[in-house]
Amino acid sequence: RIKREQDEIIWVHMVIAFILDITGETIGDVFIMLSDCTKEMTEKMKNLEFARMDFLTHTWNRRYTEELIEEKMRENKNGIFILFDIDKFKNVNDSYGHLTGDDLLIKICANVADKLYEGDVFGRLGGDEFVLWLAGSGDKEADKIRIWEIFESTKFRYMEKGVEMDIHCSAGVVFCDEDVSDFEELCARADKAMYQAKGAGRNTIVIA
Ligand code: GH3
Ligand code: MG
Repeated sequence: RIKREQDEIIWVHMVIAFILDITGETIGDVFIMLSDCTKEMTEKMKNLEFARMDFLTHTWNRRYTEELIEEKMRENKNGIFILFDIDKFKNVNDSYGHLTGDDLLIKICANVADKLYEGDVFGRLGGDEFVLWLAGSGDKEADKIRIWEIFESTKFRYMEKGVEMDIHCSAGVVFCDEDVSDFEELCARADKAMYQAKGAGRNTIVIA
């Protein structure tokens, strides 16, 4: 993989052949064959990205999200994990149909994605449940401001196709500076906090 000017990536396939000399004991010649395989590799990478993505919302799917977050946990113990679930989303589907529900999921995810930085992870666990991994700044108060900003971006008044409604979520947050062993434990803790947020009347965040 070679990066050229203006971030252009080209892929090169390289074959190296060592040819022994007449004694059969030392290398006489080395042949290197290079071929440009950018087209095949670009296609392969695209397929790989598709396999890792949630098709509706363009966030990462559950399997890849877990992989990414476990990697982040190994690299950086100072992350922030947010689990959020849309409040009363069933009502949206029941009242306005599944397509309107889909449209809402797409819009919420696009709004959240706009608030993220490179290196943050955003994935769909399933249904109307999503997770985020953010790099912590080391300053919890500043981190809380960022968490609330992202949370605010999940809210909006939906006005389309003659439909008007206020959408919001409930979220559970875990600061990963504590000892959290893996993704499952992270989810379990955040899930508990998120259900406390639901129990407190929804449309809020609970920090575990
Ligand atoms: P709560 O506030 O307790 O979360 O209430 P809720 O109605 O949101 O309940 P819950 O989170 O359990 O329900 C999620 C609903 O999301 C169930 C299902 O009808 C709907 N859903 C799941 N996946 C999709 C999808 O891809 N598209 C649409 N439109 N709806 C989905
Ligand atoms: Mg829900």
